[in-house]
Amino acid sequence: MRGRERATPPHLRAENLPPPDPTIDLDDAGDTPILREYRAAKAEHPDALVLARLGDFYELFGADAELAAPILEVTLTGRGFGSAGRLPMCGVPHQAVATHLRRLLDAGHRVVLWDQVGEVVAGRLVRREVTRVLSPGTAVDADLLEPTRVARLVALAETAGQVGVAALDLAGGELVVMEVAGGLGSVALRDELERLDVAELLVGDPASVPPALLLTAVRTALPVPLFDGRRAAERLASATGAASLLGLGLEEMPVGVRAAGAVLGYCERARVSLEPGLLRVVPRQSGDLMRLDPPTRRNLELLEPLGSGPSLAQLLDRTRTPMGARLLRRRLQEPLTDPDPIGARLEAVAALVADRPRRGELRRRLGSVHDLERLVGRVTQSLATPRDLGAIREACAALPAVARLLEDLPGELTGLAGTAVPPVEVEADLRATFVDDPPPSSREGGFIRPGADPELDRLHSSAAEARDFIAGLEGQERERTGIRSLKVGYNRVFGYYIEVPHAHREAVPPDYLRKQTLVGAERYITPRLKEQESVVLSARERAVARELELLGEAVRRVTAHGPALLGCAAAGATADVAQALATVADDEGWVRPTVDRSTVTDIEAGRHPLVERSLGRGAFVANDTSLDVAHRIVVLTGPNMAGKSTYLRQVALITLLAQVGSFVPARRARLGVCDRIFTRVGAQDDLSAGLSTFMVEMAETAAILRQATARSLLVLDEIGRGTSTYDGLSIAQALVEHLHDSPQLNCRTLFATHYHELTALAERLPRVVNARVEVVEEGETITFLHRIRPGGADRSYGIQVARLAGLPAGLLARAREVLGEMESRRPLEADREAPAQLDLGLPAPAAHPVLDELAELDLDGLTPREALSKLAELQERAGR
Ligand code: ATP
Repeated sequence: MRGRERATPPHLRAENLPPPDPTIDLDDAGDTPILREYRAAKAEHPDALVLARLGDFYELFGADAELAAPILEVTLTGRGFGSAGRLPMCGVPHQAVATHLRRLLDAGHRVVLWDQVGEVVAGRLVRREVTRVLSPGTAVDADLLEPTRVARLVALAETAGQVGVAALDLAGGELVVMEVAGGLGSVALRDELERLDVAELLVGDPASVPPALLLTAVRTALPVPLFDGRRAAERLASATGAASLLGLGLEEMPVGVRAAGAVLGYCERARVSLEPGLLRVVPRQSGDLMRLDPPTRRNLELLEPLGSGPSLAQLLDRTRTPMGARLLRRRLQEPLTDPDPIGARLEAVAALVADRPRRGELRRRLGSVHDLERLVGRVTQSLATPRDLGAIREACAALPAVARLLEDLPGELTGLAGTAVPPVEVEADLRATFVDDPPPSSREGGFIRPGADPELDRLHSSAAEARDFIAGLEGQERERTGIRSLKVGYNRVFGYYIEVPHAHREAVPPDYLRKQTLVGAERYITPRLKEQESVVLSARERAVARELELLGEAVRRVTAHGPALLGCAAAGATADVAQALATVADDEGWVRPTVDRSTVTDIEAGRHPLVERSLGRGAFVANDTSLDVAHRIVVLTGPNMAGKSTYLRQVALITLLAQVGSFVPARRARLGVCDRIFTRVGAQDDLSAGLSTFMVEMAETAAILRQATARSLLVLDEIGRGTSTYDGLSIAQALVEHLHDSPQLNCRTLFATHYHELTALAERLPRVVNARVEVVEEGETITFLHRIRPGGADRSYGIQVARLAGLPAGLLARAREVLGEMESRRPLEADREAPAQLDLGLPAPAAHPVLDELAELDLDGLTPREALSKLAELQERAGR
């Protein structure tokens, strides 16, 4: 074989081929003037992708280009630097830069725009500067943000387990500040961050933040000095115009203040201008809001649907403005726990449900208010386009009518009619300054109204005169010279010229200056023609420059009214949410719930809003729910597919909706506020974390038992089904007993199970009641009625359900045989005294007569004084 091998000719051997151009990085590329400056910009922003404006393109170089090209889906090219190699490059046209910026931000990158700021003069390097530093949390441009979502920039600071959270919505000018106990790894912090729509997380030490926290947000490490408390107070004072932290309500939140300082410091570095007085600081106390953990948010389909239907947010969103949609989404994530503000929201909704014509008119008018909040945000950042100012003008024109419609409305709309009226000068000013339909970009000019500025008018009219002169020149010169074939033309090299065929050369007047000779003609210019030409060309350029100046002045004048306009925006958004909730209530037949401080859940004919939607009107079977001091735990039995999960979720959703301030899908509802809703519905594997279904189920149950209080609502579906029947049943039984007996729990609980054996618990646990989902059995078949009835189910009907699902008849017959054998051999005793010993890490429930008495107390029937003396008595009897 060896002998048959052919030797490769020397010129084709790898070692003799010319090497491909090696790829070089920015530092090794040649020292061209542009690259020298680009390197300096890059050195200032090493952690960002720097986009350099070169003519009509934005270009990236070196490693930035390699990183960005696949994200932007553009070709990676390169520029050769002789034997040194090739510097990778890629670019995007400047008109399309917004789309590309969004892609880079969505991919989690920080982006710097290194722009041309000087005049473009041939042969000279244009002056360039970093004009924008963009990151997912600092973008405010309309095309970089989703209209219905807030994108917050959130900083975390920690001192001795206390975490300060500062969340800035830059586009809306709102800074939420709070403190959460339990350190950076706590579930309380996770739940708070979950609802804040965090786009970017700022931390001092990234290693201190658990990796699983907020996987979707970009993390940015900040130097420790940015978290300094004293600088933070100064930054807050200058951003808000407030004299002290006391005035902002932050005096009790030193760690929160440090986080706020870091957010503001980061904004300074990103060249985001925060106009003094335009930042609203919202201090938030823990406990003001109902906490919702991730499984609950998922199970209740708060923002994302589980199936093909709408999410709760989508079902509710009948808003007319993006700012209303954002406020509604925020409220949905932040249900209240104080019945008074809930009542104020409900009252406003009720008034708009009752007055349909007013609501219709309000909806119509709100459509013209646009996204005033973000429009004002862009104005204060000096990023407003002429079209943005046109939209503010339209909003100002629509708002007085909105304000009139809000007059005398009660609840949270009280007094908003006053704040919804914009300062009259804004609309008048914008109307006098801008044309009726301003363009989306300021680049080409043409947005200032004729008559608004004498200087601009002069530029326009001299350009028009010069154009007229040139237009009339051909006729004039033909007449003067008698040359009928004389023409006036224009080209990019010589500008305007007069063209005369060679045949008429003799008739050319002496003031013509020859410029160019063609085959059949001669081209000339005259001093007067050149003079008029420069008038036309420079007038256009100067007019655009003047328009930009006028735009800047208008932006400054509107900024001065910023606080008032933001007040209008807030009033508009609040009114929009109230009308949206009233519209859903009216369309879907919902009622106003009574929300109070009791621990009662009393729902008559409740419905699941999303399942009802998917089934269509009238097909959903409504059901009652009654949980009070005497009946804390409902054990719900019934076969699979009967509607247990739907019922459980429906109670949780009605509670949540009520605390958001919405009407609820029921005939009547009285609801004592809940501090938290926990749902454990349907098993979900977390295989990525290496956990089995059963392990996830147990871990979630343990988490619920650690965190629930007597004010919580627990919705537990088929706990224990992930393991063997006996283990599962034992765990389920022990869990119900624990919930019943632990004085710190004893909370409202719906417990669905297909272990019908658990129904026996109601006989010996006084606060447990049984309910079952009704089915009709006819021979081999069962029909689901979806009706909840008192009492327990006697069987599981598993085999009937399997039949419905289409399992073969032979298999089903065998299953019945096996079932019969098993039941005769080892019946599951319904009333076993001692459940299997389990180690769930839970304290064993203590049995004491005082506890029973405590649990039996009718709290709603006691005055505070009676409650206190009863408490003292019980404590004494407990042996303290
Ligand atoms: P599984 O134990 O298998 O999860 P389940 O008892 O929890 O079953 P659900 O998932 O709640 O049953 O409901 C099954 C289907 O029954 C739902 O998809 C819905 O179409 C219908 N359904 C549930 N409740 C009702 C109701 N109250 N009125 C009308 N249809 C209902």
